[in-house]
Amino acid sequence: MTTPTVVTVRAPAKINLELVVGAPRPDGFHDLATVFHAVSLIDEVSAEPSDDITVTVEGTQADQVPCDETNLAVRAARLLARHTRTVTGARLHIRKGIPVAGGMAGGSADAAAALLACDTLWDTGLSRQELLHLGAQLGSDVPFALVGGTAVGTGRGERLTEVPAVGDHQWVVALAGRGLSTPAVYEELDRLRAGEFLSAPRVSDQLLKALRAGDPVLLGSRLANDLEAAACSLAPELEITLKIGRACGALGGIVSGSGPTVVFLVRDAEHAFDLTASLTACGSVRDVRRAHGPVHGAEIVEHART
Ligand code: ATP
Repeated sequence: MTTPTVVTVRAPAKINLELVVGAPRPDGFHDLATVFHAVSLIDEVSAEPSDDITVTVEGTQADQVPCDETNLAVRAARLLARHTRTVTGARLHIRKGIPVAGGMAGGSADAAAALLACDTLWDTGLSRQELLHLGAQLGSDVPFALVGGTAVGTGRGERLTEVPAVGDHQWVVALAGRGLSTPAVYEELDRLRAGEFLSAPRVSDQLLKALRAGDPVLLGSRLANDLEAAACSLAPELEITLKIGRACGALGGIVSGSGPTVVFLVRDAEHAFDLTASLTACGSVRDVRRAHGPVHGAEIVEHART
């Protein structure tokens, strides 16, 4: 077989349509029940043969992404190399379209994309199950970035069950002027809920029903995120963003994951346009993007061979 010169993989951002957070576990993580939904904000990772594993990053927030061993794409490539005893390296290049530290799992998308790109580049031919297993070792959101679509996540979010969902939903994504650290948001949640009894987390039947029926009105009314209060406590300007969405008739609005990105479900393109204009005018957001979902998980888009 000839050696590929470049493999390019695209991987999507996620939003959590529902995020139910249980009590903290002895290992420091929280048990979750969540409904992941992959949306059309995309990172692209390309891999070329090299002696070592290195990474470069481009995009408006590239300066906020480490280019050393802590980059999640590098960690993914190293894990795959160790697991498959591969000695070839990879020169990775990331084009970021997913907001950094925005609660949309951009780093996890890059890890998923790097796993798939290097698996192809090195011709290691791991099964989907093996890639998912390696993904879960890198982070709770990595398996979902491989799978995409809409799925229920349990455990730390890494145990996935596909959700039968109908329709293509339209989202307006409000990016905040600063990032929020995921551990800091969980700590704030624990502080806010100290002493409360917490039952085992599970997602709501109504939300799953809305997805099965492709009913955006019901879906909008059922969006829920246990981390929202904690994210708003650390970044109070998110309340203003959420209020604007409600005033503009969004079908639903929610802080995405640990924030600070806020996502709104809208009826159609015209509604998205109006909400985008109001959010842009308010000054509480850094940028506003349009997205739709569900979309595919990580997929190879280029595979050029010598
Ligand atoms: P999550 O919700 O999965 O915790 P997030 O979407 O809020 O994450 P990311 O964009 O994944 O945030 O980035 C979180 C931090 O991870 C960044 O501040 C950055 O320092 C680090 N990081 C490491 N590798 C990457 C990468 N490839 N892309 C983005 N950030 C990365």
